[in-house]
Amino acid sequence: MYAPDFAYYRADSVAEIGRLLRAHPGAKVLAGGHSLIPLLKLRLAAPPALIDIGRVAELKGIAVADGRVRIGALTTHAEIAASSDVARHAPALAAAAGVIGDPAVRNRGTIGGNVAHADPASDLPTVLLALGASFAVATDDGERTIPAGKFFQGMMATALGDHDVVTAIDVPAAPGGQGQAYEKFSHPASRYAVIGVAATVELRGETVGNVAVALGGLVPAAVRTGSVEQALSGRAPSAEAIAGAAAAVSNDLGDDLIGDIYASAEYRRAMAPVCVKRALTAALKQASVADAPAARSPWWKPSWL
Ligand SMILES: Cc1cc2nc3c(=O)[nH]c(=O)nc-3n(C[C@H](O)[C@H](O)[C@H](O)COP(=O)(O)OP(=O)(O)OC[C@H]3O[C@@H](n4cnc5c(N)ncnc54)[C@H](O)[C@@H]3O)c2cc1C
Repeated sequence: MYAPDFAYYRADSVAEIGRLLRAHPGAKVLAGGHSLIPLLKLRLAAPPALIDIGRVAELKGIAVADGRVRIGALTTHAEIAASSDVARHAPALAAAAGVIGDPAVRNRGTIGGNVAHADPASDLPTVLLALGASFAVATDDGERTIPAGKFFQGMMATALGDHDVVTAIDVPAAPGGQGQAYEKFSHPASRYAVIGVAATVELRGETVGNVAVALGGLVPAAVRTGSVEQALSGRAPSAEAIAGAAAAVSNDLGDDLIGDIYASAEYRRAMAPVCVKRALTAALKQASVADAPAARSPWWKPSWL
């Protein structure tokens, strides 16, 4: 189906995006178009105007400074997956970006569009929530920062106002001794996440320190699972501790589980602990390697695995 008619404008700066959004009530910004254009074609959205932000140079690029990785909103999934800075400081983000859709989607889709669209089956909201990222947003009044924990508010709902534009995503660089992993149970055709789990785990000697685990695809917005985090933090790492912590995810799933033609709510409930266990195991293994630099052979395995 063809998209409904719309007026088309192209912005060359963040200031101009703001001016165009104010001048055209109901307008939508167009980044990679890989979520917005399908919505228009399905007639699920009919904005009177699109403001193409694809050439705004100040929204592009990846930089590392002050203990964080700053990623411009227009940076594509492929650029994030290929970045040595992201691989080094936020490996779970690099892993997640590398398993989005297919090469065409990764070469056009942007991190800003992905988070603003806030599809529960997307990968980046989940991983950015676990990593404690924050979003730099240009608003009518200037700029504000929204932490990931307050940004995702429901099914395709965010804290963004009508005239707000995400300009960059700030991701804290992983501290020493932290392992990160992203585990995805993909839809076999679209590659969207039926379930996505992002985990960061710190290892302090023989004890697990801070743990952060976020879930995607299960409930309408990406969420942290405090029950899993508390169950593992402070424990000695072992296969039993991981399995016990993973099982605790059922405490946090509530009655709001997504069920659709791809996977019923019951199936998702049954698979959630499996995916959490895989993510925790991979993150802890990575933390163990980070903790034992001499053992960085590809065949090395921590004793508890
Ligand atoms: C076949 C297919 C498979 C896919 N598989 C996956 C997958 O496996 N995992 C996954 O995570 N995603 C997947 N996607 C979605 C893809 O990652 C999209 O690119 C992404 O969700 C949206 O980014 P975009 O740049 O294309 O945004 P657009 O489509 O241009 O915009 C999406 C929405 O965000 C708004 N927006 C865009 N940029 C900004 C900004 N800077 N500030 C404020 N609002 C903004 C737009 O107004 C619009 O409402 C898939 C898409 C397709 C078509």
